[in-house]
Amino acid sequence: MNAIYLDNNASTPMLPAVWEAMRPYLCDRPGNPASSHRFGRQARQALEDARERIAQLLDAHPDEVLFTSGATEANNLAIFGLIGTTPGAILSSPIEHPSVVEPIRQLTDRGFRLVSLPVTSEGCVDLNAVTIPDDTRLVAVMLANHETGAIQPIEALTRTLNGKAPFHCDAAAAGGKMPISFRQLGVTSMTISAHKFHGPKGIGALIVRRNTKLRPLLLGGHQQHGKRPGTEPVPLAVGMATALDWSVQNLDAHNTRVLGLRRRFLAQLRSHAAPVILNGAEDSGLPHALNLSFPGCSADALLMTLDLADVACSTGSACSSGSLLPSPVLAAMGKTGDVLHSAMRFSLSPLLSELEVDEAARRIALCVNRLRATSGEPS
Ligand code: PMP
Repeated sequence: MNAIYLDNNASTPMLPAVWEAMRPYLCDRPGNPASSHRFGRQARQALEDARERIAQLLDAHPDEVLFTSGATEANNLAIFGLIGTTPGAILSSPIEHPSVVEPIRQLTDRGFRLVSLPVTSEGCVDLNAVTIPDDTRLVAVMLANHETGAIQPIEALTRTLNGKAPFHCDAAAAGGKMPISFRQLGVTSMTISAHKFHGPKGIGALIVRRNTKLRPLLLGGHQQHGKRPGTEPVPLAVGMATALDWSVQNLDAHNTRVLGLRRRFLAQLRSHAAPVILNGAEDSGLPHALNLSFPGCSADALLMTLDLADVACSTGSACSSGSLLPSPVLAAMGKTGDVLHSAMRFSLSPLLSELEVDEAARRIALCVNRLRATSGEPS
């Protein structure tokens, strides 16, 4: 068996059916959806069908779906687009993705104040510790965490906020992996990204509640009501709708399968690579992400060793890999020392086989025990 891919929270393999759905719009149907001729109308139809399908799958209205280049752009658009100019508080969690953290950090340079919501040791925003300042201008909390899979109490937060400020929710790590009703969440806007659920890279969406004032980031076009101008990527939109459809239609079967793979993988590591510390809840979050610490191993050394053993995983979010800084997500959960510095993220997909998971666990145990032996730590 060759390389084993356990980095599905960084990106997933695209489904062949998604490619098949996209292909005509890349090759034989070149129209720009803004053109009024037959080709343009054909492209427009495909684009609007995709928008409608995505809206339906997320319990939103089609006119609430804005296509973007991915979740990073959608998060930036929401944060800069929803916040007004009057300084005040921005409530967010310390476990957000950098594409939420960094725009908020920039806003603090412009006079806004960050109020960081405390999280529990299992990586969930602690509702008991949340108070909403009177001058709150924006709330940004993700739906599921990309490093631990922890699901955040969004509905409870929107109920507590009671419409006092816009609420943006980054659902990039949750899209296609749990039931999502945009309406029921009660948020103002929500981000998804196609390459996280077996769709193409380079497209995401910002779902924005009707009648919301959203200032565009980009200027110079009438497309998507001027909120996100630029020629819409028709093939990518068709691909995203196809992938989301597949993910949502098969949600229960996929999650049962991934949970089974997770338990199997974890049991083998616990037997053959002990001590193993699970960062996050045993079973209550999304089963796709498994964040594990291997005391006695440095995560960076283990990542490299595993790469040589042809197991692909990560030490945190892909966007911060390459940095030697420990994960802010785990730090916010109170992890310190060896647990923090030996943490690895393995992320699964329903496309993995039992055989792959077994073989990955075997290789990981081998690497972990070898590293512990050479670093003089107990194995
Ligand atoms: N938010 C979360 C929670 C993510 O996991 C990611 C992907 N690492 C992003 C945002 C950014 O997504 P994209 O790659 O589509 O820009």
